[in-house]
Amino acid sequence: MRFDIMTLFPELVETVLGESIIGRARAAGILDIRTYNIRTYSDDKRHRVDDTPYGGGRGMLMAPPPIWNCYRAVLADGAPEGTVPDDPDLLPPKPANTRVLYMSPRGTTFTQKKAAELASLDRVIILCGHYEGVDERVLEEIVDEEVSIGDYVLTGGEIPACIVTDSISRLVPGVLALPECYENESFQDGLLEYPQYTRPPVWHGRAVPEVLLSGHHANIDEWRHEKSVEITKERRPDLLGSQDIPK
Ligand code: SAM
Repeated sequence: MRFDIMTLFPELVETVLGESIIGRARAAGILDIRTYNIRTYSDDKRHRVDDTPYGGGRGMLMAPPPIWNCYRAVLADGAPEGTVPDDPDLLPPKPANTRVLYMSPRGTTFTQKKAAELASLDRVIILCGHYEGVDERVLEEIVDEEVSIGDYVLTGGEIPACIVTDSISRLVPGVLALPECYENESFQDGLLEYPQYTRPPVWHGRAVPEVLLSGHHANIDEWRHEKSVEITKERRPDLLGSQDIPK
């Protein structure tokens, strides 16, 4: 799966998405994550990317031209020969099964369900805002969907983009060693995860629940399900809603 991340701080994104499981999946060619520095695409001689908002107000807004030029470069990167128009106001065709996201506090809140939906795509293109945000017109022209990582405001879209990319990536086949790694996880079936234990069997006087040492898989599954329901009821009853509890 391919991700293209448009940002003013590519090093920040590369640092986060260059390590551990995601870094290894990139090295193995399972994930193709490319970052693009929006500033590089500014035609201004000082490489400015922002300007003051019309109508007044605090702060600066990211202006449309550098974002448009950057998006054009993203679409041109790997596009079939002869498909990139000479006219800078025209875009190369957007490949099938591709979605463009803008990280934004006013977007729909990102969930595990959304991660699974996006993981079924071939390509996700992400625009990271900064300063007070982005001129609305360029959003209207290039963005399919605004996505928020929660009801709070960060200084930029880079951390949200890393969160969204990480969470989608681990659902891509081959990124985690086994699909079971995420099949039993919190949110996957509408429940939070049951408690987990590893060695030693007794630590600080606390013993691992007997059933987990029994080797009886049906009993272990039943215990885990009961614990999942109990924890979800206690901590996130909203996840259960009025629906039947998943079996
Ligand atoms: N003025 C904007 C507003 O009130 O909605 C906030 C701009 S914020 C300071 C700068 C950038 O950070 C945004 O353009 C967005 O890309 C990113 N950002 C901040 N909080 C976010 C969140 N909760 N989810 C996703 N992106 C966020």
